[in-house]
Amino acid sequence: KSQPSHEVGVVMYSPQIDSSSEASLSLLTELRAAVAQDQLRLYLQPKIAMASGEVVGAEALVRWQHPQRGMIPPMQFIPFAEQTGFIRELTGWMIERCSMRYAELQRQGVELKFAINLSTRDLLDQHLPTKMERLFARGGVQPQALCLEITESAIMDDPARALQTLQRLHAMGLRLSIDDFGTGYSSLAYLKRLPLHELKIDRSFVMAMETDRADLKIVRSTIDLAHNLGLTVCAEGVENAQTWALLKALHCDEAQGYLMGKPMPEADFADWLLDWTAPQARLRTEFAPFV
Ligand code: C2E
Ligand code: MG
Ligand code: MG
Ligand code: MG
Repeated sequence: KSQPSHEVGVVMYSPQIDSSSEASLSLLTELRAAVAQDQLRLYLQPKIAMASGEVVGAEALVRWQHPQRGMIPPMQFIPFAEQTGFIRELTGWMIERCSMRYAELQRQGVELKFAINLSTRDLLDQHLPTKMERLFARGGVQPQALCLEITESAIMDDPARALQTLQRLHAMGLRLSIDDFGTGYSSLAYLKRLPLHELKIDRSFVMAMETDRADLKIVRSTIDLAHNLGLTVCAEGVENAQTWALLKALHCDEAQGYLMGKPMPEADFADWLLDWTAPQARLRTEFAPFV
């Protein structure tokens, strides 16, 4: 097998990178430079309350604006960032950016919850709650406005330690969500002990639920499971109106997907929000006499 080239794109596609290899050192150097040279971008995707149609939050998703390769999606560097531990720096950057954008939106009169993705390494970082406290002390976003999305596998990596970190974050007032629910290995015995607010149904189930009866059943039972545990449930990957209607009929609380809004550069979010809200408000006034 040939050595991976030191070029970023090639390295990023190979799942097993020897962390001591020249190629991986070079990618790590590039990632560090990405932060130092301001090449990371915060994208935001709206989360919609299904009953009211209102935007209730935004998920923060990272992109890498590479000087030669253009916009690189997270799946091409997040796994590497996790392997090398660089993810902690990346998560720090995301939280910082979210805090600034939150404050900016607040100045414009918009109050939304921000959801940030955490990885295993973040959960194992015992200083994470303290780092967060320091950030909140500086102003900007407050813990009640933040939701942390964690996958089942990230928790199951070291459940005892994850539980400890999550309990501290919960005590600080942050909301916790299980991301991509149904795709990882998890144990309901652990899940029930976690101080959770939300389950997110993985888009692989949602996208096929109209045509695949098994997926429909999985989505329905996940919604029921979440509600029985007192959790809010959010469906990802809503791409068409039929899926929206189906989820609404199943009493899914929130939805995210291309049908409503794709992830967009953080600076575009306020304008998108106006476009979303204005027609709704208009409809409400026009139909008010009839309802
Ligand atoms: P995720 O947290 O499950 O995020 C949802 C992914 O689904 C996003 O992909 C989003 O663009 C995509 N998506 C949303 N709606 C639709 C839809 O209707 N159809 C389709 N086909 N896709 C949809 P993205 O931005 O490429 O992110 C992929 C994954 O990378 C995320 O999955 C998350 O696990 C990870 N990720 C992204 N940003 C970060 C970050 O800042 N930190 C960490 N640790 N992970 C991140
Ligand atoms: Mg997520
Ligand atoms: Mg997800
Ligand atoms: Mg996902």
